[in-house]
Amino acid sequence: MSEGPDGMFILARLPGVAAAKRDRSGGGSRAGPGGWDAEGVSEQQLSIRFDPQLWLFLPPRRRRAEARPAPWDGTSSLGHVVQSLGVPLTETGTLTVDGRPALPSQRPPAGATVDVPAVRRPQALPLSPPRFLLDVHLGSLARRLRLVGVSARYSNDADDPDLVDLANEEGRILLTQDHGLLKRRNLHLGAYVRGSRPDDQLADVLERFAPPLAPWTRCTACDGPLVPVDKAEIAQQLRPGTRRTYDTFARCSSCGRPYWHGAHTRHLEAVVDAAARVSARSTG
Ligand SMILES: [Zn+2]
Repeated sequence: MSEGPDGMFILARLPGVAAAKRDRSGGGSRAGPGGWDAEGVSEQQLSIRFDPQLWLFLPPRRRRAEARPAPWDGTSSLGHVVQSLGVPLTETGTLTVDGRPALPSQRPPAGATVDVPAVRRPQALPLSPPRFLLDVHLGSLARRLRLVGVSARYSNDADDPDLVDLANEEGRILLTQDHGLLKRRNLHLGAYVRGSRPDDQLADVLERFAPPLAPWTRCTACDGPLVPVDKAEIAQQLRPGTRRTYDTFARCSSCGRPYWHGAHTRHLEAVVDAAARVSARSTG
């Protein structure tokens, strides 16, 4: 594999070789022992301080309470600089430059100190109640949100551009643990979900957005609203044991699935109780 035309191909893709090629074709020349400066642009710096709540997005060397120098090309916007260091703008509060509030689209003056706070909790939203769209890895969280009555759309085969389009079209907040997805320029509303256990993820979403809860009102399978239904109407869908034991039923108005409060709901009741406690804390 390392000989002949294939070997040449691989060699040409090595970073050092590609850079040397660019240098020749661009007509630039070596600027000296410190590196090259073919465009005549020297690197400037900003000082950036991140709230500790945002450190999980940063490499370990940047996880410091004091402002740290960051390279800056002199033209990029604040938002670009923050995201290129690793922190999605969906996770930040109001940025400040030398103590004054600044928009992500602004260009900071050279040498400025930029402060990046975490988003406030509960987060103010342009829509109420908040509705969500979850990425393919968050199916368990989607079912828990539905259980407590929060609208959570989920599909296990949507790709990233589809997710962004769907969230924007339906005015939903895209929930994900994919940093790159949150950095997409055209995404209107998104949030990083903290925690690896679905119960922790649910607490995180409830703390951040404080949605109103309405347990046992949504289909956990499809997000459709549940409506009360007479036992006689769904008797055919029930196993004989269920038909004998229970009298109060609901049905999903979207997919038709029957629901009743049974012995197997003890675990779900624990999830609902925990959610209610988190919600009471978040809404003060
Ligand atoms: Zn349903």
